[in-house]
Amino acid sequence: GKPSVHPETLVARAGGAVDEQFGSVVPPIFPSAPYRRDATGRYLGGHSYSRDQNPTFDPAERLLTELEGGADALLFASGMAAASAVLEALSPGAHVVVPSAMYWTIRRFLEELGAAGRLDVSFIPTGDLDALGGALRPNRTELVWVESPANPRGEITDLCAAAEMAHAAGARICADGTLATPVLTRPLELGCDLVLHSATKQLNGHADVVAGALVAAERDAFWGRVRHERGMRGGILGPFEAWLLLRGMRTLYLRVRASARGAMDIAEALVRHPAVVGVDYPGLPDHPGHAIAARQMTGGFGPVVSFRLGSPERARALASSLRLFHDASSLGGVESLVEHRAVVEGEGSPVPDDLLRLSIGIEEPADLIEDLIRALDGLSP
Ligand code: PLP
Repeated sequence: GKPSVHPETLVARAGGAVDEQFGSVVPPIFPSAPYRRDATGRYLGGHSYSRDQNPTFDPAERLLTELEGGADALLFASGMAAASAVLEALSPGAHVVVPSAMYWTIRRFLEELGAAGRLDVSFIPTGDLDALGGALRPNRTELVWVESPANPRGEITDLCAAAEMAHAAGARICADGTLATPVLTRPLELGCDLVLHSATKQLNGHADVVAGALVAAERDAFWGRVRHERGMRGGILGPFEAWLLLRGMRTLYLRVRASARGAMDIAEALVRHPAVVGVDYPGLPDHPGHAIAARQMTGGFGPVVSFRLGSPERARALASSLRLFHDASSLGGVESLVEHRAVVEGEGSPVPDDLLRLSIGIEEPADLIEDLIRALDGLSP
């Protein structure tokens, strides 16, 4: 059922997780791999062995289930492990429809699975519903993958419409909600079947954990296969990381809203600077996905702002002259980062070679803007 308090309250209290034995307000970590049976041979708390399920996962999975309005959640060793579990749960050779601009490692992995014949992959322009309609094969397509906003250029997909189209064709739809988090978008409420998170990003929020999560709308047979995949492949999250993740999630609403506010201010400041060739941020009125984003997202447009500088040399020069942005991969932490994306994504990337991606943390936006303007002013004309 629906939680009786606001989600802000729910996360601040870690979903109500406390230790029943000592009353500790912070829930404990359970490092044990094995769990004892009682005299009748039953497991005391239902846990048997930590490759299948660890009690430290339970409160984080319950909290994610509630935040997304789902039926169940699973933690994984990384966002990629979560994505792999979904793809492995498909039948051999299954037809999947995926966006051409999306988080690059998942895209690359899909390309590899397609080339190996493991999956039959149709790439479509991100967010293009006509292309989705053309690519779907009724009663043959097993999965539609969407990511909104997409990393790094913030392309928006109408999740309601995409879910309706997927379901009409008999396909399941999985939304990568990493950039939005349940604070800004709840894909299951918009009709998606699964939502994926790189919990490494804003869910944990402090850049000190690699983790992934999936939340399901239903505990159906497919979800049973996903759970089975996690146990069989065994690439699970460690209990210490699961504990840190729950600790980080307590401030989720504060961080996500602060980052989104800062990102909006920074996007607007970048638009005004003559050295900037273009800014990609779904909060900007001229972003192609803005109208849908404004409807589908609540309370902001996420922490990622990308912008172009006209040449890869200028992008490189700017990245290395910023003082308050670490030049590093990843996003969604409390400290702001900058990255020259095309260099990371390599050959075949749809990302322009003059694009810098910013991940906005929770610093004072005025300081970040000052740093950016100083660096932009310093670029040679
Ligand atoms: N999805 C998105 C949108 C991402 O940005 C990332 C990582 O950057 C992932 C998935 C993969 O997550 P992880 O790095 O935790 O494996």
